[in-house]
Amino acid sequence: MAWQYRCGTCNTATGWMGRVDAENARSDHRRTVHHGMTPDGERLASNAERADPMLWVWTLAGCLALGALRWIWQHAQ
Ligand SMILES: [Zn+2]
Repeated sequence: MAWQYRCGTCNTATGWMGRVDAENARSDHRRTVHHGMTPDGERLASNAERADPMLWVWTLAGCLALGALRWIWQHAQ
């Protein structure tokens, strides 16, 4: 899993890296840009979060559509 540090105040993000590197980038960013303060809207994001949250909805819709087609086909005989 890769991690990325995002700062909402600067609207910037690092590249994808290991968790420890991302935490170090957070510390460096706070120290160098925000005088050691914690900026608003910062977060560590993992690439696991990038999976489409709508994927399960489409999967469910696809199953229902197939079920409906099968029902129609069976009742059309
Ligand atoms: Zn910042």
